[in-house]
Amino acid sequence: MTTPLTMLETTADPHLGVRAFADYRGDIHERCEVLVVGSGPGGAVVAKELAERGHDVILLEEGTAMGRREFKQEGGAAMQRLLRDGGSRVSRGNIVTPTMQAIVLGGGSVINSAICARPPSWIFDKWNLRTGTSLTRRELDPHFERVETFLGVAPTPAEVQGERNERFRRGCEAIGMSVEPIWRNVQGCKGSGECFTGCRNGAKKSTDVSYVPAAIRAGARVFTSIRVERVLALGRRVTGIRGRVVEPVTNIPHGRVTFDADIVVLAAGCMATPVILQKSELCTENRWVGKDLRFHPGLAMMAMYEEPIDPWKGATQGYHSLQYLEEGLKFEVLWSPPSVLATRLPGVGHSYQKHLLSYDRLAPFDVICAADNSSGEVSARPGTMSPDIRYHLDQADVDLMQKGLKILSDICWGSGAEAILPGIHGLPEIIQCKEDAEVIRKHRLEANAMLPASNHAFCTTRMSPNERLGVVDESGRCHDLDNLYIADTGIFAASSGVNPMLLCMALADRIALGLHARL
Ligand SMILES: Cc1cc2nc3c(=O)[nH]c(=O)nc-3n(C[C@H](O)[C@H](O)[C@H](O)COP(=O)(O)OP(=O)(O)OC[C@H]3O[C@@H](n4cnc5c(N)ncnc54)[C@H](O)[C@@H]3O)c2cc1C
Ligand code: SF4
Repeated sequence: MTTPLTMLETTADPHLGVRAFADYRGDIHERCEVLVVGSGPGGAVVAKELAERGHDVILLEEGTAMGRREFKQEGGAAMQRLLRDGGSRVSRGNIVTPTMQAIVLGGGSVINSAICARPPSWIFDKWNLRTGTSLTRRELDPHFERVETFLGVAPTPAEVQGERNERFRRGCEAIGMSVEPIWRNVQGCKGSGECFTGCRNGAKKSTDVSYVPAAIRAGARVFTSIRVERVLALGRRVTGIRGRVVEPVTNIPHGRVTFDADIVVLAAGCMATPVILQKSELCTENRWVGKDLRFHPGLAMMAMYEEPIDPWKGATQGYHSLQYLEEGLKFEVLWSPPSVLATRLPGVGHSYQKHLLSYDRLAPFDVICAADNSSGEVSARPGTMSPDIRYHLDQADVDLMQKGLKILSDICWGSGAEAILPGIHGLPEIIQCKEDAEVIRKHRLEANAMLPASNHAFCTTRMSPNERLGVVDESGRCHDLDNLYIADTGIFAASSGVNPMLLCMALADRIALGLHARL
């Protein structure tokens, strides 16, 4: 049974005990039983669960701890401080798609919308068909429950939905689509819509204010501003890691660090973990390291209303529809800072200015696609730990996204929009009536006409009981190394269908409990 976070005795400063750049003098050499790399949803869960079971745990994080008073609402400033490459990371291929990863204590959970969704059971059937896993939703349910109980995951309350979210709900209902409040790891939400730049209200239970402090209370040592560069190994056993102290925000390298450990758990995220393995020249015989990158490409469409709806008020993402999930489509309300949103507005000069002036009458709705036919790869670049990311969006998935756009447009009209901004090259910048929106269905859409965002990423160290089909087995252990585990979204065997964070945490919980049983 898990004790909910709300019932634990917590200090006013959730980052108390976290070691930071200012604490370090020269080189560092430490040892522990279990070394966890990465403090996002995967790594933080492993660190807490193992520390609470009496193991000597060290958690390493390249980013720094960011207190709620340090979050900046301005999009550019927030991205510079919280995101890798200042948020400008993109994949190359037949589309250029932005893909954001956080660099901060708490990883992606600090900048995400806190959506917690359990994937339906048929997702695991697909995984099992693909790589031969035998995971089932029933087996994972106790792990979902433990994570949800600890974080207090609950549906977004009606009081904080705001007009933007309500319009989405009305739009879905008007066209007979299912719609439900999104479950989130949030307590006491103020509906400020600023999850992406960090929750200044302390309501979002990102791992830096939930799992990490719990790990520290249980005795774990947490080091921030430490970049892991190599995993060290002797034969089939890893012995620890080597890396550098890095300066917050600039990432300028300082002292050298060595951490010796009996077990290493990599949870650096699905873009970084394969790069660490490649740089370390580990698992070189395994053809799946860095391969089979999967995204949920997402497209946003703006509904424009006649009257102001003050879209900045309300939970960042409060409602979604799962009606088309089995076909590979999920529909959501969206919100982001004005500077990010402004890049999605069409036109130049006066026409652009006109769209900007309608800011208080706009609501972005989005569709994310399972994109089961598309894949890519992540590889290490010489002289840096930044990944080279390639991705090919298959035409079958483009066609599916086009179907999603048509449904999005129906939701917009159903919600009472007077016009929509499709945001697709080759389509009109603005569509003024439902009949004209038929062009979205009729136009032959191609991959390079879209600029999807791909913030859900997985599968680069995928799971399979068969070493010829995956990098880790079902316990999260690398096939090629006896004491190296992976616990980030890289281990997904295929798309999660729904937003990936909760599944990542449930798998990490399962990996930690399994590891404890073996130690
Ligand atoms: C804008 C945005 C919104 C999102 N919204 C949602 C949502 O609402 N719900 C949802 O389910 N999912 C959402 N996601 C996706 C979700 O946040 C990620 O799937 C999740 O964070 C992945 O967890 P992880 O532990 O695999 O990796 P990460 O969260 O990326 O954590 C990895 C950590 O490892 C650290 N690290 C990396 N390399 C090194 C190194 N060499 N040395 C030391 N440390 C290192 C990183 O700094 C990072 O803190 C969103 C993502 C984005 C970008
Ligand atoms: S909507 Fe605002 S208050 Fe609610 S979790 Fe997000 S940032 Fe925090």
